[in-house]
Amino acid sequence: MTGKVKENQRQRAPSQRSIATRDRIFDAAEQLFSERGFEGASIRDIARIAGVQGALVNHHGGSKEYLFATIVARRADELSRLRLDALDQMKANGALSVRQVLSCFILPFMDRVLHGGAAWSAYGRLIAHVSSDARWHYIAQSCFDPTVKVFLDEISTLLPQASREEISAHFVFMVSSMLSLCTSRWRIDNLSEGNTEENRASLVITGTEGMVVSYAKCCLPIPGDDVMGYLSSGRGVVVHRNTCGNLINFRKQPEKWIAVDWEKDIDRQFASQIQVDTLNKPGVLAEVAATIGDCSSNIEQVSVLGRHEDCSVLSFHLQVRDRTHLAQIMRNVRNMPNVIRVARECA
Ligand SMILES: [Zn+2]
Repeated sequence: MTGKVKENQRQRAPSQRSIATRDRIFDAAEQLFSERGFEGASIRDIARIAGVQGALVNHHGGSKEYLFATIVARRADELSRLRLDALDQMKANGALSVRQVLSCFILPFMDRVLHGGAAWSAYGRLIAHVSSDARWHYIAQSCFDPTVKVFLDEISTLLPQASREEISAHFVFMVSSMLSLCTSRWRIDNLSEGNTEENRASLVITGTEGMVVSYAKCCLPIPGDDVMGYLSSGRGVVVHRNTCGNLINFRKQPEKWIAVDWEKDIDRQFASQIQVDTLNKPGVLAEVAATIGDCSSNIEQVSVLGRHEDCSVLSFHLQVRDRTHLAQIMRNVRNMPNVIRVARECA
């Protein structure tokens, strides 16, 4: 009798509750494996985060290594489908360039990792672990290589003079840079114990979770500005103002730009720059500096951009909280008797 009951249980499809438990375990495993690597994540911790008994983790995931492979495979299908769909779509539009083929491989991944929420962000780091450790080559082989081969074939067709070996070598380098874009913040955090400028920066820009963020020197964006993120291979995401002259590149390489926005309630100072045209009166520079200081802003640098017979053009590098703060400073400076014009500089 008991044997028969067991048999029936085995044949029954998994219940909704069982599927929900399994997904919770897989989500917890994904998070921990991505944060701590294979060794650092214990079954006990995975069970604790999933809120289940350790035995249930084994029941749903098998051995730890099998669980790890399952977690990598879980999103690999969706990723492959997105990449191959992008390639099909691009091909339907006409003749391809190598750049276009590569963008069909890179962009679906970047898009998911950047905009797909915390789970996909963790998955990006997890893939970086997998691809950097020879132990996991068998996982990469079964999860990613079939799709990679499709892309290599496309590139081979476009570059008939290049050997398959050369193309593969370049492709692997490209994949490493793609992954480092997603993992560099984690790496930098580790090296600097979380005190990097980039780390703090990524906390104030939504849409860049897991990435290194910096502010463009050309246009010095501050909270309140409309901004765009440029995906730079060496420097993660560089945030520019929408009014920046460098956004001309946006039309040329739309695949390099991502939508970003400021977080609310940011508590830090940002570099900004204003240009002040003044009459050539003794002490005018000190007066302007004092007015800026009265607005609780630090001046980091002052330079004279031009000096004419009766007026001078001064440039102030200063620290501000946001657009409102900067607007207040500019208004106060503009109201000074010896000031002719105040403008925020932008490339
Ligand atoms: Zn810019």
